[in-house]
Amino acid sequence: MSAFYDVLQKYSWEEVRQRVADQSRGDAVAALEREHRTVDDFIALVSPAAAPLLEEMARQARRLTLERFGRTIQLYIPLYLSNHCTNFCVYCGFNHDNKFQRKMLTLEEVEAECAVVAGWGFRHILLVSGEAPAMTNAAYYERVIRLVRERFAQVSIEVQPLEREEYERLVAAGLDCVCVYQETYNERRYPLYHPRGRKANFQYRLATTDRAGQAGVHKMGIGALLGLEEWRVDSVFTALHLKYLEKTYWRGRYSISLPRLRPHAGAFSPNDPISDRELVQLICAYRLLDQEVEISVSTRESREFRDHVMLLGATSMSAGSSTEPGGYVSPRAGLEQFAIADDRSPREMVEAIRARGYEAVWKDWDRWMANS
Ligand code: SF4
Repeated sequence: MSAFYDVLQKYSWEEVRQRVADQSRGDAVAALEREHRTVDDFIALVSPAAAPLLEEMARQARRLTLERFGRTIQLYIPLYLSNHCTNFCVYCGFNHDNKFQRKMLTLEEVEAECAVVAGWGFRHILLVSGEAPAMTNAAYYERVIRLVRERFAQVSIEVQPLEREEYERLVAAGLDCVCVYQETYNERRYPLYHPRGRKANFQYRLATTDRAGQAGVHKMGIGALLGLEEWRVDSVFTALHLKYLEKTYWRGRYSISLPRLRPHAGAFSPNDPISDRELVQLICAYRLLDQEVEISVSTRESREFRDHVMLLGATSMSAGSSTEPGGYVSPRAGLEQFAIADDRSPREMVEAIRARGYEAVWKDWDRWMANS
């Protein structure tokens, strides 16, 4: 059982929802004025009561981000290894029930994909896969990581939750970062979205960051799929998770992602859609809570939105992304996990970052080491 699960048991979803709803403008102003903020302050800052204070939140979030990260945006690219999946997540195009051509990359194909994206300048790669452990398992990931490590300074994975010993093997092979998103922290409603398959096990997924932390994974990315459940409540639980990890695995680095549901091959509409303005409020609230945390905004978001939030709190962005296995060497229609909203090329993205007076960083690892 997860140690974080024990923390989670101290909070009820309904009580947190009520606390968010009960916040006043005075609570939000007090949270904004505090020098060191807690999750209680975060609750005030994501509440509807803080919405009219967004301009001041953005001003402070920008200052904190500039102090810690300077005028930089770290660039990374996802590399989809496989879209085979034995899970049934109702919101995802890779759902086992969806009938389309599935593909898992061979090592030769991984090498070819890497050659393309390394040629574009990327030195940080995120390896992504559906969950089909009979095919894509720790042994496969270990071979892939050893291969891509030759070209990339930072290697992250976003694959199925693994055992602690498996993470230890992958760290030894060169793994830097594990991204695992709980999708929703609402344990009661989680089964509605994950009805069958290994991902149906809420507690096993929640314990993933503990297993990775114990295995010595240096960096972890967490987040909720915004729109599944009430995004404000899920974000409060994400903030609790972040603070738990920072305290428990204090040598580690952490990153928050804020994926919003996108159209896909199945039919699923968000229960609690989050608007652009609300997503800006959420990004600012995370920055005001935590000056150290990286905030990642993917190509799910539009170019206008990404250009705006790079000035406020975002520190890391993907660019030129394909969400289909083999999509960099030979793009085909119909294999992608979700639609891309910002389709700028890496070169165009670098220009957009420069145009705002920022610098695109392809390789962040050395800076980390210097700061450690
Ligand atoms: S979200 Fe992940 S686990 Fe769920 S169906 Fe999609 S690829 Fe599979």
